[in-house]
Amino acid sequence: MNDCIFCKIGAGQVKATLVYEDDRVVAFRDAHPQAPVHILIIPKEHIDRVSALTEQTLPLVVNIHRAAIKIAEQEGIINDGFRLVTNSGKMSGQTVNHLHYHLMAGRKLSWPPG
Ligand code: 5GP
Ligand code: ZN
Repeated sequence: MNDCIFCKIGAGQVKATLVYEDDRVVAFRDAHPQAPVHILIIPKEHIDRVSALTEQTLPLVVNIHRAAIKIAEQEGIINDGFRLVTNSGKMSGQTVNHLHYHLMAGRKLSWPPG
């Protein structure tokens, strides 16, 4: 077993506040929320980042988007809107090297992000 924290959350070995789970994807509340709703959506399978996706693993992005829509409905933010964003690589600010999408909502989000 590697020591990737998000692999461990995905496998249920480290606690997180889960808001969604299916056979391929899990979503949980960010430990340091930057908005009233700040949820991380990850594939259970370890993939470093967007740039590490392959033809074989790219379909997981569809599963992640499907989960995002369901979560946005669940959280009551589907009409007001939300941001779905992922950091890929060190210049982007990625700090956890397991593919994850931030789903953020509940306040007016500025653009562009810093
Ligand atoms: P990144 O900067 O890589 O795009 O985002 C990583 C996110 O993961 C950060 O928003 C950070 O707060 C969150 N995070 C890091 N470790 C944990 C953890 O152990 N549990 C939870 N729930 N969130 C985490
Ligand atoms: Zn991992």
